[in-house]
Amino acid sequence: MRRQLQRIYWMAIGITVIMALTAVGLLVYVRVQDTRESMRSILYTASAWTEESTEDLHSLAGRIASAAPPLRVTFILEQGLVLADSQADLSQMENHMNRPEIVEARSGGIGEDMRRSETEGILTLYAAVRISPRLFLRLSYPLEEIMSLVKVCALGVGVLFLGLYGIQRGMLARFARRMVGQMEAVGRLLDGENARLEEEGFEEFRPAMRAIEYRVRRLNEDVRQIQKTQSLRESFVTNASHELKSPLTSIRGFAELLSEGMDDSPEERAMYLECILNECDRMRDVIEDILMLGRAGAPVQQTVQPVEVRRTAQEVACALGVRARQRSIRLEIQGELRVEAVEKDIWEILYNLADNAIRYGREGGWVHIRLEPGLIAVEDNGAGLAPEHIPLLFEPFFRVEGAGGRGGGTGLGLPIVKKLAEKYRAQVKVESRLGEGSRFEIRFVREM
Ligand code: ADP
Repeated sequence: MRRQLQRIYWMAIGITVIMALTAVGLLVYVRVQDTRESMRSILYTASAWTEESTEDLHSLAGRIASAAPPLRVTFILEQGLVLADSQADLSQMENHMNRPEIVEARSGGIGEDMRRSETEGILTLYAAVRISPRLFLRLSYPLEEIMSLVKVCALGVGVLFLGLYGIQRGMLARFARRMVGQMEAVGRLLDGENARLEEEGFEEFRPAMRAIEYRVRRLNEDVRQIQKTQSLRESFVTNASHELKSPLTSIRGFAELLSEGMDDSPEERAMYLECILNECDRMRDVIEDILMLGRAGAPVQQTVQPVEVRRTAQEVACALGVRARQRSIRLEIQGELRVEAVEKDIWEILYNLADNAIRYGREGGWVHIRLEPGLIAVEDNGAGLAPEHIPLLFEPFFRVEGAGGRGGGTGLGLPIVKKLAEKYRAQVKVESRLGEGSRFEIRFVREM
């Protein structure tokens, strides 16, 4: 691109210089033509004077020359001998018989020529006319002024060329650098670096650059999201396999014991059977939660309708009542809330949060389900959570080791809650202090 710009610029410089030279040429041509015209009219007037004059040729030459200095007037005989000259010493002058203007004038009319003067060494314009059968009048006018003009113009063109060249080196190079810089910034942005296109760019390019930047950022964001989803999916599959494999291994182990242990007592056999049943329940829970997680992530398909959340919370409290009583936990529902949703989803959110609050709650403690406009909060005064565990709570299969829930939970309850909340554009927030209790909040963006 830089080379192309340079080519265009050199073309522009070339055209400018050619135009400047043409202008100078035209100017010189016009000035020479003007001088030529003036010389012709002086020649006509002077030849008329000469015919009438009785003056000697020397003073006549001086008089004619004084009409338009630095005009020089010369009288030349047919054979080329110079009879009089307004400027030069006659003894120094050569025979003029073969001078082009005299040769031309000899065949009639005005003879003209332009050449470097042999006496003065300056470019001079000559015009001659026959004024009598044996005598020629010749005028010569040095084009000194025009030559100076040409020199000044040539100098001007030179300066112009140097100026344009300087601009090319400075401005054009900077322009090209900015263009290249902008393209490099696009490249960096595509590579995922945090380049700012707008700052580096030209004003005219800004809307386009803004659009490119926006799209590239979105593209990078999408790629990051896809990579994240990919790695989440992989870890989900690994965890899910592990969660299903562990109870299966236990079931197989107990089944082998049963098939081999002919001498085992009936109590031992009953215990093995109970373990098998427990592991079966566990597998069923994991599978149900995996299915639920899949459903929770799907967009709302059933029609939403007003849900009286207090009533749903009461149903949940009823379902968890036995467990709460077993741990002597007081489960209370406070406030009212109405949302537009699928009731099953609200039930699932409340059940998972209240189930956790009871499971990880303090024996003899309390669990509150608070309802406010646009808000569901489930609080407990139980085990609480360490700050480093809070960001991990919504990762599938995450469980706090030694929190007392390993035996029971699947580690999918909170991810299900989060997915369901996102379905309704609600935000999930957790506040918790280790040993003091927790508060899980579902805040609906607008009251539904
Ligand atoms: P789980 O089925 O194991 O309960 P969840 O996804 O519902 O899975 O919870 C993940 C982990 O978060 C639990 O294993 C537990 O350690 C912690 N947790 C969840 N709720 C609470 C709570 N109310 N108090 C303390 N810890 C909690």
